Amino acid sequence: MNSLCVNLLNPPFSHIYIEKGVVDHPNTVKILSRFPKSTQVIIKHYKDIFNRSRQNYPVQKQSQNLIIAEKRPPFVYRGSPLCQNFGNDNFYYANTVINCVYNCEYCYLQGMYPSANIVVFVNLDDIFGDVRKLLKSDPVYLCISYDTDLLALEGFLGFSEKWFEFARFYPHLTVELRTKSANLNSLEKLTPQENVILAWTLSCEYVWEKYEHGTPSPMQRLNCIEKALAKGFQIRLCFDPVIYIKDWEDEYGRLIEKVFRELPAGKIKDVSIGGFRIPCDYLKDMRKNNPNSAIINYPFNAVNDVYSYPPDLSDRMNSYMLGLIRKYMPEEKIFTWK
Ligand code: SF4
Repeated sequence: MNSLCVNLLNPPFSHIYIEKGVVDHPNTVKILSRFPKSTQVIIKHYKDIFNRSRQNYPVQKQSQNLIIAEKRPPFVYRGSPLCQNFGNDNFYYANTVINCVYNCEYCYLQGMYPSANIVVFVNLDDIFGDVRKLLKSDPVYLCISYDTDLLALEGFLGFSEKWFEFARFYPHLTVELRTKSANLNSLEKLTPQENVILAWTLSCEYVWEKYEHGTPSPMQRLNCIEKALAKGFQIRLCFDPVIYIKDWEDEYGRLIEKVFRELPAGKIKDVSIGGFRIPCDYLKDMRKNNPNSAIINYPFNAVNDVYSYPPDLSDRMNSYMLGLIRKYMPEEKIFTWK
C-alpha cells in the first residue's frame, strides 16, 4: 500500500511556486532553468502556500514542491541556546532555504514549520548586507545550514558557492555549513577557505538506517569528508544528535572507531557532541506527524520548555562519547552541548 501511495504522488518539484516580486531575479531564472518540466505557479507571498492550514506534512515530504521567495527582515537571527556556539560570542544564523530534501525522523523542522515544501529565498544580497552591518562592530560566527542541508541542494542552487565567495572578503566572519551530504561534485566547485567550516553530522549505522531517511550512509559521508580534508577544507565532525537506542554504546563505539580509522584526526578542526534536544512545542507536532516513531516518542524530560534525555542518561551518553573521542582528539577541540 505504501509503495502504491508513493507511486501515486507527484515527483519532487513537480510544481514550483514563485513570488511575483522575484520572478526575474537571476537566482530564480537559474533555478527554473534546472526544472524545465515543472509546472510554474505565480503567487503573491510564499506564506500563502507554505502556511496554509490542514497540510499533510508526511505526505508532502514524499513529494516536495519548491517555493521561490524573497526573504524579508530579519535576515539574520541570534543563534539558539540549543545550538553550540563553539566558543564564539557573536553567534548568528541565516536561513536562505527552509526545509530539507532528507527526512530524518528526529529533525526539528517537522515541528517548526507547517509545510514540508522547500522554500528558497533568492535575495541573498540582502542577507549579505545584514551580515556586513554586523561585521562593522564585531567578528561574527554565522551558521548557514541549520534549517536545510545547503550542500545537498548545491547542484541546482549554488548557494554554498555564493557563501564561500562572500566569506572570502570578510576575515572576521566565520561561516559554518552543516551537512549530511556526500555531494562530491559540489565540493569540487568550492575553494577551501580558512573561515568557512564544513560541518558533517555523523550517525551510527543503526540510526542512519532506521531514522535518517534518504541521507547518504555514514561511509559515503566519510568518503566525502576524506576528499574534503585532502582538498584543504576546514572540517568539523558533529556527533549530534547522539540518539539513545538499544546497544547505543556498541553502535557509537563502532562509529567513532570507524571515523578515526578513515580520517586523519590531526587535520580535523574540531568535534561536537550533543544529545537529542528539542523545544516541547516542536516535539508535540512531530509526534502528531509520526506517532509510531520510537525515537521521538521516548519519554523525554522537559526543562524550560525543552525536551531532552533525563540528566543521568544525558551525562552518561556525553561522558561515553567524550571518552571515545578523547582517544583521538585533544580535549580543547571537543565541544559538548549540555
Ligand atoms: S539532514 Fe538535517 S535538516 Fe535535513 S532532515 Fe536531516 S536533520 Fe533535518
